[in-house]
Amino acid sequence: MDASPSEVERQRMDADIVCVGFGPATAGFLATLSKRLVNPDGTAAVESAVMPGAPPQVLCYERADDIGFGVSGVVTRARGLRAAFPDLDPKNIPMAAPVAEEKVVYLLDPIGASRRSWTLRVAEAGIRAFQGLLPFEDEAVELPWAPPFLHKTGGLVLSMGQFMQWVGTQVQSSGTVQIWPGTPVSEALIEDQKVIGVRLLDQGVDKQGKPGNGFMPGMDIHAALTVVGDGPVGPIGQQLDAQFGLPEGHHARDWAVGMKFVVDLPADTALKPGTVLHTFGFPEPEIFGFLYVHPERVASLGIFVPSWFDTPVRTAYRYLQHWMLHPYLWRQLRGSKLRSWGAKTLGESGRRGEPHLVGDGYARIGEGSGTTNVLTGSGVDEAWTTGAQLAESVLELLKSRKPFTRQNLDDTYLRRRRASWVEAEARVAEKSRHGFQKGVVRGMIGMALAGLTNGRLTLRGEPVPPYKRIPSLEEYYRGRIPEAEIERLRKECAIKNVSLHGALMQRCGWPAIPYDGQLLVSHQDALLLGGKVQAPPGYADHVVFLYPELCERCGTRICIELCSGQAITPGEGGVPAFDREKCVHCGACYWNCAQPVPGNPERMNIAFRSGTGGLHSAEN
Ligand SMILES: Cc1cc2nc3c(=O)[nH]c(=O)nc-3n(C[C@H](O)[C@H](O)[C@H](O)COP(=O)(O)OP(=O)(O)OC[C@H]3O[C@@H](n4cnc5c(N)ncnc54)[C@H](O)[C@@H]3O)c2cc1C
Ligand code: SF4
Ligand code: SF4
Repeated sequence: MDASPSEVERQRMDADIVCVGFGPATAGFLATLSKRLVNPDGTAAVESAVMPGAPPQVLCYERADDIGFGVSGVVTRARGLRAAFPDLDPKNIPMAAPVAEEKVVYLLDPIGASRRSWTLRVAEAGIRAFQGLLPFEDEAVELPWAPPFLHKTGGLVLSMGQFMQWVGTQVQSSGTVQIWPGTPVSEALIEDQKVIGVRLLDQGVDKQGKPGNGFMPGMDIHAALTVVGDGPVGPIGQQLDAQFGLPEGHHARDWAVGMKFVVDLPADTALKPGTVLHTFGFPEPEIFGFLYVHPERVASLGIFVPSWFDTPVRTAYRYLQHWMLHPYLWRQLRGSKLRSWGAKTLGESGRRGEPHLVGDGYARIGEGSGTTNVLTGSGVDEAWTTGAQLAESVLELLKSRKPFTRQNLDDTYLRRRRASWVEAEARVAEKSRHGFQKGVVRGMIGMALAGLTNGRLTLRGEPVPPYKRIPSLEEYYRGRIPEAEIERLRKECAIKNVSLHGALMQRCGWPAIPYDGQLLVSHQDALLLGGKVQAPPGYADHVVFLYPELCERCGTRICIELCSGQAITPGEGGVPAFDREKCVHCGACYWNCAQPVPGNPERMNIAFRSGTGGLHSAEN
């Protein structure tokens, strides 16, 4: 096989609408659209341009090997979801429960290893001194009041995996839409600044994408409208951002890595279905935690490690274990068993990271279009609702036989989106987290200010790109671990082929994790759990180190320390190695790399491309 992938003859298929990704945003789009393409008598309500007489041909390609293999047990107010399914009964959806009780809890540091400012240390000393007067228990304070913007009253606790499978069945049974999991889109097809469809990923190639035996070039799907709902690190969203740029003043510099477990709670658990706990303060002040209880003693729990946590050892897995071991949580979790786990990044720039939402032949929905609201801690409802808004707009344009031009999409989709609650709440949230750029206490004050004044008052603090904020290991541990010792630990860990962050955290007083083989298991064992991380052969590596010379002189190698799947390891000559079979597709490496590429201070040295495999679990 000599031809390069760009030269080969590709099959072409024509559709009316092609969608990239089947997350909540595209689910909202397809759930709304699919019901209205056909009349009750079975005739086409609107007509296909590529198959005259039939309803429009709508195809959706999903990267993951099955529907719902993403991650995130969620709590959501479910406004958009209920609008699409007015009769929605949580009893019909596995792992769904109505929200019953919500608590916000401050976790004190029971170990003394956490990095706390003097303000927090003084505050904790005060809490301990007056604990008899406070709702203080097991090294934690349950806040007696939480601001209304944080509440999910009337909402649902959901396993997104289960919910997506449920929606997928509803949508496909309409007969008007096809969803193809295990089929990554590799790129958008762009002609004269117009998106004319997508190209699917090549198969039968080596790690570098070079064709081998059994080479199957990805098919080209031409469509009048391409709907891009590929999430916060989607390659098609990235391509469109590179091609069309971001609106003036916008940037996507805020993000978080969310890591979560799904667990069986002990038989005598006191936690009731629908219980929602949000924590802050521990294991590090910057790390937020959550615990949502599903029916039948199952819980989703996890932590978020945000972009403004300025450390070169951003390890979500190890921190999640310390979080579970906090006395306030451990009293509920002792005796639990790990069922499933996963990780995924969240784009937290919200409206500030909004790209161009429409253009000739394309529209963007969901988190990749800046929908996630960091003030209310809500992403699913917003993503879903923008999908539903696009569906209404598409139906309007199809009925009036207008083409999917930038202007027409502006007049329909953008108009709906700008007039909706998604936009109004995004405006309130836009600068709500700026305070965190200068510390956690300022950050919390900033959020409260923004939330309680409807965004009229916020603190200053322009987000800066990661390479400007991640210190080297030597800088970060100055005064705590001598440079020579860091170098010694670095060499020892490289010889033992173990992560450096474990040794550094231990050196700073974090105790070893008491593995119990049930809930507290090693990172490697979690990866092997039930064969849940898989990668079919014959595809190119989707994580690529763009400029190896930058890696060679990189002081932090944070990509290795933070990797959610231990898929990035020390490699030869200082350039990390990537093992596709361990990658959970969280996207954390894409955001976290510590070096910008030459000529573009907003782009880091890791490319996160289209790829297959990842988690095999629909419980998350
Ligand atoms: C740990 C965690 C906890 C969270 N908790 C909550 C919560 O409690 N409440 C809440 O409201 N929100 C929560 N969120 C946020 C919420 O999950 C997101 O806002 C929401 O999933 C965004 O939906 P989306 O459809 O825009 O994107 P995604 O959910 O990211 O879906 C995008 C889809 O596109 C697919 N895709 C990507 N690239 C390609 C490609 N090239 N080809 C084909 N398919 C592709 C992906 O596999 C994925 O299925 C949480 C997120 C995380 C990570
Ligand atoms: S990918 Fe980024 S963080 Fe990793 S070694 Fe290279 S430059 Fe450093
Ligand atoms: S290599 Fe895969 S698992 Fe590791 S951080 Fe990157 S996307 Fe996540």
